Amino acid sequence: EKNQMRLVIKFGGTSVGTPKHIRSVAKFIQITSKKNQIVMVCSAIGDTTDDLLEISDSIKKENRVKVDSILSKLTKKHLQIAKETISNSVIRKSLNQKLESILNELKGLMHGMILLGEVTPQSLDYLISFGERLSIEIVSHAILDLKTKSVALTGKEVGIVTDSNFGQSKPLMDTTRLRVSTNLEPLFSKKFIPVIGGFAGADQHGHVTTFGRGGSDYTATIIASCIKADEVWLMSDVDGLMSADPKMVKTAKVIPEVSYVEAMEMALFGAKQIHPRSFEPLLTKKIPMRIRSTFNVNNTGTLVTANPDEKTNKTVKCVSVIRHNGLIDMRGGSMVGAPGTAATIFTTLAKAGINIMMISQSPSESSISIVVKKNDLDKAVNTLEMELLGKIIKKIDVTTDVSIIALIGSGMRGTVGVASRVFGSVAKRKTNVMMIAQGSSELNLAFVVKDSDCSSAVQALHDEFRLGN
Ligand code: ASP
Ligand code: MG
Repeated sequence: EKNQMRLVIKFGGTSVGTPKHIRSVAKFIQITSKKNQIVMVCSAIGDTTDDLLEISDSIKKENRVKVDSILSKLTKKHLQIAKETISNSVIRKSLNQKLESILNELKGLMHGMILLGEVTPQSLDYLISFGERLSIEIVSHAILDLKTKSVALTGKEVGIVTDSNFGQSKPLMDTTRLRVSTNLEPLFSKKFIPVIGGFAGADQHGHVTTFGRGGSDYTATIIASCIKADEVWLMSDVDGLMSADPKMVKTAKVIPEVSYVEAMEMALFGAKQIHPRSFEPLLTKKIPMRIRSTFNVNNTGTLVTANPDEKTNKTVKCVSVIRHNGLIDMRGGSMVGAPGTAATIFTTLAKAGINIMMISQSPSESSISIVVKKNDLDKAVNTLEMELLGKIIKKIDVTTDVSIIALIGSGMRGTVGVASRVFGSVAKRKTNVMMIAQGSSELNLAFVVKDSDCSSAVQALHDEFRLGN
């Protein structure tokens, strides 16, 4: 590692899940800060965000008992962790006061929401931003406990300004850049380590907004772009992006280098959950990202850059899988040459709140197949039967328990024979392929098999493309 890099280091909820973890994260930051300028970004501790979402559900259902019980559980958890994390009694006291005041504000907010009996997108964002508000105080005080200067800042306080699209907000980058650099540069010169709450910012009226689940990754890359960081590190409980799920393929390896577009595909496919918009802020300045493990810091993880080293370029870089889905096959002569058929099907499903994961249409236009999550299958089929069967759709066939297997790698683009290697090796295992889709980017080749065939198909592909070497 070079000397004096400017680093944005983000820790996920599991990485700061216990007092022991928080102390070791603080120690890691302290050591790394000796040679580098550091901004830390933190997620909420453990499942706190889920707890806050459960509170909002219970408010909607007017279940006060549940609201109170989750709040008291959440309060106890944070106060207990704070107590066990900090050894210096003065620092512990100051932390306690901060936490009490944040928890009081949270209580006030919940009270207001209960009185109004409603959860608006705006109040929901405010509510679910509290996880990070609590975690950054604890982590920042853990750094102070190591006699190192640190300050906790929420996304709003550090200057992340967003649009007012609550729950899925986007940063207004020019304003954000000005504010964030104005706020952080003085802290650098005074050698403070800023600990910034991920996931949230505020709109132009000062209302708290969030970026959607997993949004702390996005916070990290936004900050990195604002302060022209040399690198962003996403620290979590995995070693990096993997060539396959290690639970399924014993020889799965950490992928040393991928491009931003490849990483984006892998993130969408859920091999390792990364907020899909996280890469955007890095693109123009080409800031590299490292995906590393908190628990295995000697491992350098996966490096995400604009142009990965040629030596690391393979045709296919990973085989990822989404298991437990349902396949719906729709047929009907009247679908042929009828503009708007696909639109009608997709709008109908969208209105029912169903997310479609994969689509393919035969060129004859007489059939359209889609894949949805198993949990959505029942509702999807029901909706289609109620609204479209007998009209534009003649017949619906459903297959439960299917897996989507996707091969990802920019080396597939323009490489002749990839598909034949893929389907050849799957055929050797006597596996039936039920549906295929390849985006025109050729970065991703996806197909559907029975759940029971999934593991052997993945193994076959991992071997075929030698991803274990
Ligand atoms: N705490 C938020 C969540 O759980 C944001 C994050 O963890 O990145 O989604
Ligand atoms: Mg989280």
